[in-house]
Amino acid sequence: MKKSKKSQTNRSQKSIREPSPIIYYMVTAVFKLIGTFLYQPMVKRSEIRNTRGSFVIIANHQSALDVALIPFICNRRIFTVFSTTYYLSLPKIAQRIVDLSGGIHKHQFQTSAGNMKKMRNIVRSGYPLLIFPAGLMCEDGLANPAPKSTASFLRWLGVDVYMAKITGSYFVMPKWSSVKRPGKTIIDCYKLFSADDFNKLSAPELEEALNTALDFDVYQDQENNKFEYKNGANAEGLENVLYQCPHCNTKYSLSTTNNDISCSACGFSETMDSMGFLHCEDSKKEVRHVSQWSSWIRDEREKEIHGNCSAENFIMKLPCEISILDGTVRGFRPAGKGSASLTFDEIILEGTLDGQAFRIEKNLSQFPMLPFVPGKRFEIQDGELSYRCIPDTPSHVTEFVNTLRILHQRKEKKKNDVN
Ligand SMILES: [Zn+2]
Repeated sequence: MKKSKKSQTNRSQKSIREPSPIIYYMVTAVFKLIGTFLYQPMVKRSEIRNTRGSFVIIANHQSALDVALIPFICNRRIFTVFSTTYYLSLPKIAQRIVDLSGGIHKHQFQTSAGNMKKMRNIVRSGYPLLIFPAGLMCEDGLANPAPKSTASFLRWLGVDVYMAKITGSYFVMPKWSSVKRPGKTIIDCYKLFSADDFNKLSAPELEEALNTALDFDVYQDQENNKFEYKNGANAEGLENVLYQCPHCNTKYSLSTTNNDISCSACGFSETMDSMGFLHCEDSKKEVRHVSQWSSWIRDEREKEIHGNCSAENFIMKLPCEISILDGTVRGFRPAGKGSASLTFDEIILEGTLDGQAFRIEKNLSQFPMLPFVPGKRFEIQDGELSYRCIPDTPSHVTEFVNTLRILHQRKEKKKNDVN
């Protein structure tokens, strides 16, 4: 019995590329430098610091370089799952370094059978595996939900699962801003599930525990922490997330300068402080948290969609430039023009690409979210290909993504109601 287990481990080891110690520790040294400068990490606890054998670390995702915080909680060589889009945008030499330091890339929100087997081989070979289940960092301080399949995937891996809870990295580099604001970040790493829990807990119990662990509102946490961030008082770019005025309801009337966000339709104005909170001279009108304002915008959109539209007539269509990521060149290559549309059931991309008429229709159940940058672009994946859409009105990107999120949830709810 012992022998067969050993030969199984040997087979698994053959199918994965172990991280090179030299390259891995060089990369983590760079991460530690970046992490120390930007995030000033404070480790609350790390239950994986001296843990042997294989386990999975799941981390919440607040900012682009969250991965640089992991070497502060574990000195072992860890395999890390990240996005193929990012991988293919790197120069060949950087791709090679990633390959040699335990990087596993896959398309966001799409996990092939091959990806899954690779991850299971890693844990069977005795290594730790790091995943960011939400896939996307948050744009407004609120967690993006993890795909529903995450809990069953963790059960299938069958090893201990640790939660790496990151708090505050959002404020260091919010997705809506190009300004970096070095400041404090807390990391708390603790055991969320033991391998044995997967036999004891029901699927809904697992899912609930997972969602609770991964959920956050950075502004609520900041009310307790009150950390200040250097260059923190800079609201520029925020109008791409907060695109609707909470006072007069007008869309696309907001603009930002330095620390201020103001509405050209009604004059409503707020100022951001170095802790990231918003203040209004008229305290009755104040919306203090970006997350609160953003939730209100999403609720308004939901009312609009469900109140005024029937399934037959709903469409949100954005004309856009389209680029393709197909691995032929580094990153995306310009391919043509067209439009991206959302209906109650589908996301449709059509136009003229590489001189030919083109159209894909994808069921919204496959799209809980889209990779996106507020005020710039979003991406639609189709198998191994990814299409980058740069709308003629880039300020509409967040509304498009909010709409997709609402329509996807509506579809999921309908599916559950039928079952
Ligand atoms: Zn207004």
